[in-house]
Amino acid sequence: MKTNEFIPSVNFHLWEPCNMKCGFCFATFQDVKQTILPKGHLPKEEAIKVIEKLAEKGFEKITFAGGEPTICPWISELIKIAKKKGMTTMIVTNGSKLTDKFLKENSGYLDWIAISIDSLNESTNRSIGRTLSKKKSISKNEYREIIERVRSYSYRLKINTVVNRYNFEENMIDFILKAKPERWKVLQSLRIENQNDDKFDEFEISQEEFNLFIENHKLVETIVPESNDQITGSYVMIDPAGRFFDNTEGTHMYSKPINEVGVNAAMSEMKYDFEKFMNRGGVYNWNVNTQNSMNKITLSGGVASGKSTVGKLIAQKLNFQFISIGNKTREVAKSNKMSIVEFQKMCLMNPELDKKIDSEFANECNASDNLVIDYRLGFYFINESFNVFFKVSEDEAIKRLKKSVRTNETFHTVNERNNLFKNQFLNTYDIDVFDENNYDLIIEVDHKRPEQIADEIIEKYMLLFSRNGVKENNKKR
Ligand code: SF4
Repeated sequence: MKTNEFIPSVNFHLWEPCNMKCGFCFATFQDVKQTILPKGHLPKEEAIKVIEKLAEKGFEKITFAGGEPTICPWISELIKIAKKKGMTTMIVTNGSKLTDKFLKENSGYLDWIAISIDSLNESTNRSIGRTLSKKKSISKNEYREIIERVRSYSYRLKINTVVNRYNFEENMIDFILKAKPERWKVLQSLRIENQNDDKFDEFEISQEEFNLFIENHKLVETIVPESNDQITGSYVMIDPAGRFFDNTEGTHMYSKPINEVGVNAAMSEMKYDFEKFMNRGGVYNWNVNTQNSMNKITLSGGVASGKSTVGKLIAQKLNFQFISIGNKTREVAKSNKMSIVEFQKMCLMNPELDKKIDSEFANECNASDNLVIDYRLGFYFINESFNVFFKVSEDEAIKRLKKSVRTNETFHTVNERNNLFKNQFLNTYDIDVFDENNYDLIIEVDHKRPEQIADEIIEKYMLLFSRNGVKENNKKR
């Protein structure tokens, strides 16, 4: 075990109380509460001193965990102090208290929010104990809303999942792809004596079962798996009493309190494996937003909303390439010696064909940069994209169709055609392309010229681009 190098990130479990009771929780700290800390936490001033000492020592990143850190009344103060001392800040939370008030208050100080989501199935969460009072678990939709809220305040998002006996066969791919966390940490549930060993038999899984979960989710690019072996000894952790602890012996081994002996002396009592920390991807560039490389704009919307005309204009102005699923479908129809209408009818009968085209088209787009993509499902399939929805009224759409004489699109009313799309995507992928929550920008297009719409989109895109610190070197205007 290599212990002599410095691990630059630290998890401060500052608070024992939690509003959930997950059976596999390895941070229950009942041992701490029963022996030295009846309230389960240090007084605020003592916690502040710990943070100041960690910053002085040179820790670059601090993760506030618990228990549940968001129920600590002074968590915002601690985050602010850590940020002012130059550290990257994160919380690990069960998500139940991520209110607008909390998100607003910590904006600008808290960099990352890691939400613990083990299952999207309420009964599984109840079996795990991931429930609030009266056994109320957080539903899939509620998790989605929480993530939307976190995103709306521009926090960076991580999701943590503990794989255990109750969820190891669950498939979370769709949810994770939609949530788009920058990191999805997937941990094998770990037995820790005096923390969870009284009920751990119920949750324990083998390495093979853990591997199965990882294998079933390998399509998720941001997955970071951590087996029991990888977790053990690779984290620098501090308990609610302000002491370092490690888990190398299968139980928590605590140092003397940092505020009494200082960081160096307390840390020297601990065993950490720097190599393991490195191997599990611990040195991750926390400050670089991987989503900054957003250089694709996807356009979705109803029939005759003008996506393609506007898309070509945007591409021209930004010096991007315009690409459309319609053209891709036409190509495939042609290679099958069919008209586009015949081919679309065949796809309706055979959804697998549509899925194949989607997958090929998405792969092409994801492998390229600087694209404007006319694709209703773009928000779902395209990584690192700015997603726009064109909102058009039925009257305006009919007017446009008449003008363009698109004969193959006039045999149904506009609403019927939109419903066809909606149902097709709901049936195939369980996603609603007309749900405005899926987009970064909703643009009303009635009575607007294509040029005007293109400029509006570019302006909003650039604003987000520059806020995320991305170079604006593609801008031609
Ligand atoms: S929410 Fe987190 S801290 Fe609370 S019981 Fe569950 S795993 Fe433990």
